[in-house]
Amino acid sequence: MTKNIITVLESIPEEWTNIEVYHTTAKLLPEFKKPTIVKYAGKNANSSIWISTLQHGNESTGLHVFCEQWKQLLQENIFFPYDVYFFIANGYAALSGEHWSKRFASFQVDNNRCWFREEEENLIAKMNIPSLQQKQIRLVTEFINSTNPTHLLDVHDTTGKNQSIGFTLRKNDDPKNNVLYSLAKNIIFLSRLPGSFLDAFSEKYISFGVECGKSGTTESFQSGRKMVWSFLNLSSTKKESESGYENLRRIVIKNEIDFDFHNFSKSNPIQDNRLHIRSDIEELNQSCTRTFGMLGTYFGDNLPLCVLEQGRDVTEQYLRKENGKIYARTSYFGQLFSTNKQNVIDSELGYFSSRIK
Ligand SMILES: [Zn+2]
Repeated sequence: MTKNIITVLESIPEEWTNIEVYHTTAKLLPEFKKPTIVKYAGKNANSSIWISTLQHGNESTGLHVFCEQWKQLLQENIFFPYDVYFFIANGYAALSGEHWSKRFASFQVDNNRCWFREEEENLIAKMNIPSLQQKQIRLVTEFINSTNPTHLLDVHDTTGKNQSIGFTLRKNDDPKNNVLYSLAKNIIFLSRLPGSFLDAFSEKYISFGVECGKSGTTESFQSGRKMVWSFLNLSSTKKESESGYENLRRIVIKNEIDFDFHNFSKSNPIQDNRLHIRSDIEELNQSCTRTFGMLGTYFGDNLPLCVLEQGRDVTEQYLRKENGKIYARTSYFGQLFSTNKQNVIDSELGYFSSRIK
């Protein structure tokens, strides 16, 4: 069954079992231009679980993992006591321009900021979501709600080097998180992430997000494989998170600031009017600002970076500058820092978080 603005497949096409994972981009990706739902029916199922990926067009891990997962399900005749729905959110973005290079297509806004809770319909107007994208998301939302879901997982990867990370809006001690604790070592406890898939469904169903690791790496693919398999089985062997973090604070570079990534261990020249960020900034992910030390240099006035707490400017609380060197004020843990310049401009440099234990 194909509606004209989304694609719905009632089963995993048999011919997909012949596609090698390294042919995912050439042979599978073109099938997913429109938002696509692929059903894998369970045995005597009266509920469902959902796994989504490709909210962001520059994140290739999830689809590669799906390709391998579909093959295994069909070849080994595996069945679950619930229906499984695979959702490929935004092939347009992955296919636009050079493949896997754009977070969203030129005629879109960030797809993972378009999912809203029913009571927050008024925010949709505020977000200026293009009408096609809005209609597609509405249709998929209705579809999800119609399948009696219990668990949803949204699979992402990162441009920077990160370990696997899980996201939840539920509290540390909520046993509903156990499935997530079994997926990823690092867990980030969010208060809200408005517009995200995770946030939109979190109140109604048990919803998680995961970041597999750095896009295009074997590590990311392997950790994605493990996480998707564990989620399909709803394994929940772990009762608490291995490393927990909270209070995510977004760090962006101020609009007018010119910046680069600088290797301070080589004596590269420093320009006074430019922000030089340490080129090894990705090493700060899942580690502490205290041991990491200086973040970069800037000899202009004021701080060239902005720290945001739910959109509120809290820079002074988090950063200080001393003789042109920028430091964190105290011990935070870095998350999702990236040295991909385009990504830094489009989204952010990274995040600070506090360690829970
Ligand atoms: Zn993403």
